[in-house]
Amino acid sequence: MNVYDSGRMADTLAPLGYRQIDGPEGADMVILNTCHIREKAAEKVYSDLGRLRLLKEAAEAEGEQMIIAVAGCLAQAEGAEIMRRAPAVDMVFGPQSYHRLPEMIARATRSAGTRVLDTEFPVAPKFDFLPATEGPVAPAAFLTVQEGCDKFCAFCVVPYTRGAEYSRPVADIEAEARRLVAGGAVEITLLGQNVNAYHGEGARGQCWGLGSLVRRLAEISGLKRLRYTTSHPRDMDDDLIAAHGEVPQLMPFLHLPVQSGADSVLAAMNRQHSADDYLRLVARIRAACPNIELSSDFIVGFPGESDRDFDATMNLISRVGFVQAYSFKYSPRPGTPAASVENQVEAAVKAERLAHLQELLNRQQLEFNQTCVGRQIPILLERDGRRPGQRVGRSPYMQAVHVDVPEGEIGRIVEVDIVSAGPNSLGGRLMSVNNKLEKGIATAE
Ligand code: SAH
Ligand code: SF4
Repeated sequence: MNVYDSGRMADTLAPLGYRQIDGPEGADMVILNTCHIREKAAEKVYSDLGRLRLLKEAAEAEGEQMIIAVAGCLAQAEGAEIMRRAPAVDMVFGPQSYHRLPEMIARATRSAGTRVLDTEFPVAPKFDFLPATEGPVAPAAFLTVQEGCDKFCAFCVVPYTRGAEYSRPVADIEAEARRLVAGGAVEITLLGQNVNAYHGEGARGQCWGLGSLVRRLAEISGLKRLRYTTSHPRDMDDDLIAAHGEVPQLMPFLHLPVQSGADSVLAAMNRQHSADDYLRLVARIRAACPNIELSSDFIVGFPGESDRDFDATMNLISRVGFVQAYSFKYSPRPGTPAASVENQVEAAVKAERLAHLQELLNRQQLEFNQTCVGRQIPILLERDGRRPGQRVGRSPYMQAVHVDVPEGEIGRIVEVDIVSAGPNSLGGRLMSVNNKLEKGIATAE
């Protein structure tokens, strides 16, 4: 979502004459778009700010100005603290203020030393004020359809930093999707902190769920792949599950975070589902779409998690079989309920559990990758690889695939024979482009 937000900030700044460059050296303005989900992400910002201060001082010594801005969820949560700890910072603004960037810049540049802090949750949604993306778009694009969250899981900062749940109207999303496709997008990933809680205004003022939205977007000619992330198990409704079996553009891959396999931990997390609910849900999804594969998020060492609870998580992983996953040590976040409870798990125990969990998840991922060898899989070519003539694309299951192809094929979906598999990617041989047989082999990493 931050990648998408950064793009929209660039859209807002383009009319002022700003364009994106590759690094902070020589920039008129540097915006750090931050994350607050775990402590590590937050600490990184303060060390980056230390380095940027030196660049700013060097620029000022040359008579140049460099605006330093901090955006995103850390800015929302710790705006005043950032201002205090990092005096070189000129602007701090939260995720709901991006459309006000031009006026913030005007304030910051009008007189030297003016600092701007904007962490309001505006009444009118920012999407109504953000300009449309112009020009070329990457083959695999993002589109935010929903923001914020009302679920209040006990570990999570999102409801505090991104605010209450908001769904964009279907017509706005469709218009943006059409613009993305016209600009070159072949695949769109619909984004939301809780994307399947989507309930936007549809045709004739009716409320549409994510399944209806997906079906509508699948009608856009040239849009070959649709994905959505991140889903909550409680919001997988029948229509969305059915869409997986009925909409060919909807990729057979679903990121469905479970966090833990222990009911007592799930209850303490306020996830509002049990491990068994999750397993039954997975069975329903697989019945609707037999070739679907799943990925998930896990937190180990949530307060009160016992060895038996952890074993229950390992057991759930073994039963489901995930082809990818993100896993984290529980990180206490200021202001969230779980941060202040007594029974925190020791750091060493968390580290040991995470290592065990990741060993199992990595094994499952490699095993799945190996089952792909010998199969012919459609790959969306997204970018150049490291070697000349090599491209990197994505399979329907989000695996990175390295393949040798001629120039100019980025943005195409090509049939690839998978010839090798590594833990994180596949290697393939191109089968056909426009029915012409081409050659090329790449090795998995
Ligand atoms: N809305 C999604 C998750 C969004 S946050 C859901 O409900 O599942 C992305 C992931 O970050 C979470 O799934 C969780 O695994 C992890 N995460 C969030 N807060 C965390 C914390 N305090 N400590 C460790 N991991 C956390
Ligand atoms: Fe955070 Fe997801 Fe829970 Fe919302 S549903 S509070 S975003 S983990």
